Amino acid sequence: MPNMKATKNDMPEQNPEIRNKNFSEVALGYTKELALDEALRCLQCKHKPCVSGCPVNVDIPAFISEIINDDIIKAYEIIKGTNSLPAICGRVCPQESQCEMLCVRGIKHEPVAIGRLERYVADYALSRYEKKPSSIIRKERKVAIVGGGPAGLTCAGDLAGLGYDVTIFEAFHEAGGVLVYGIPEFRLPKQLVKKEISTLIDLGVDIKTNMVIGRILDIKELLNDFDAVFIGTGAGLPKFMNIDGENYNGVYSSNEFLTRINLMKAYQFPLVDTPVKVGKNVAVVGGGNVAMDAARSAKRLGAENVYIIYRRSEKELPAREEEVHHAKQEGIIFNMLLNPTKILGDSEGNVAGIECIRMELGEPDSSGRRSPVPIIGSEYTIDVDTVIMAIGQTPNPLIKNTTKELETQKWGGIIVNEATMATSIEGVYAGGDIVTGAATVILAMGAGKKAAKAIDLYIQSK
Ligand code: FAD
Ligand code: SF4
Ligand code: SF4
Repeated sequence: MPNMKATKNDMPEQNPEIRNKNFSEVALGYTKELALDEALRCLQCKHKPCVSGCPVNVDIPAFISEIINDDIIKAYEIIKGTNSLPAICGRVCPQESQCEMLCVRGIKHEPVAIGRLERYVADYALSRYEKKPSSIIRKERKVAIVGGGPAGLTCAGDLAGLGYDVTIFEAFHEAGGVLVYGIPEFRLPKQLVKKEISTLIDLGVDIKTNMVIGRILDIKELLNDFDAVFIGTGAGLPKFMNIDGENYNGVYSSNEFLTRINLMKAYQFPLVDTPVKVGKNVAVVGGGNVAMDAARSAKRLGAENVYIIYRRSEKELPAREEEVHHAKQEGIIFNMLLNPTKILGDSEGNVAGIECIRMELGEPDSSGRRSPVPIIGSEYTIDVDTVIMAIGQTPNPLIKNTTKELETQKWGGIIVNEATMATSIEGVYAGGDIVTGAATVILAMGAGKKAAKAIDLYIQSK
């Protein structure tokens, strides 16, 4: 008999007053009892609407049914059949706008907590993971993957599973992309990302780090040595507002701020080499997940007041509801309908404040959201000593500039055939944020999967 409880089972969490001073994971995961109770809320619908909401089509009722049967390893194998990074997706997928949005339990009440169940299964399986000798028969054919984020890792995993000799070239000293340098430890523990990546290494994927393609080697040179190339270099170039004062000490891009903290472990300084300066009063400009991550990280590094400054109203905040809720619980102050006009500095060139203008909402723009309009004469200054710009990112132009034949959009994204992810160069494929602009982990993974299928067909046809 299904459990007809109207609401999802809550996941145990660290207390907000304690967690806003540490970098340990906020959400602690379901216990076995909670997972079973939640699994029993699933109606095992024959037409599986939830599956079509998942960009990699995880067989959701099938894995949930194995939780009920207490065969968690089988549940894991079902998920892994289409999703190579389930412990990560269970934590960071925007489930509310994907699988859970189409769950029939969500029509009248709350949907089944699919993401939480996926996380439970993956954590259980990874804690018992043992390397097994691979039964995959290796092919002679070689594929190069440029960029070790979710798009590249997924493409690599699928091709290695098909027997290809796969090498990932990653610019940083660690693979993982935004999973290691962007999303903070308190939302996605890095040990877990490492474990998921080690399951790919066990499949035979070779990861070469500190390899900036476009500098050390270019795409044409890779094509001399490999049968096909996949580009998954993401959108890691930060945007600024181009207002006065952005060059003062204490102004960061969210990218630099989070990379220092997450990948270089600046929160452990002086035990590690990389410092990060955070003052008492911090302004974070922007309203997406990146802004929430930067604000919550600043709070954990000891800032007394952390302000989110966003030019629209709370209703338009692009961040996930859960992230906004967690940020508020942790004491982040939300200043809505406000836009920076200049950053003020002191005589030593350090940030001394941020001048902002109040905004009101006008007519809807092309995105359908109401445009923010400044209220003339409403400027005022907030005393801050650190400003973090989290207003979006674009692709780094390095590959585009060193590969003239590669067709790109005006904003730098690579143009692909959407059915195959093939670019304008034969044998070169692309996917993830480098194609769509900043999007989500699971969409990048979906693109990596699609490209892997097309690369297999392409190589077989050669
Ligand atoms: P990336 O993850 O950016 O990986 C690209 C990789 O390519 C990087 O490792 C980079 O170092 C490497 N690279 C770049 N140039 C080169 C080169 N020339 N040579 C070799 N390697 C290169 N999405 C969600 O679904 N949920 C979330 O909660 C969420 N939170 C986010 C929080 C932050 C702070 C950020 C920045 C993003 C967040 N996202 C979230 C978005 C998500 O992380 C991205 O959409 C996703 O990581 C894109 O994957 P990708 O593989 O295309 O690119
Ligand atoms: Fe839902 Fe993401 Fe899992 Fe798909 S991968 S079922 S969208 S949580
Ligand atoms: Fe279960 Fe919801 Fe999917 Fe139906 S739609 S199978 S209730 S998760």
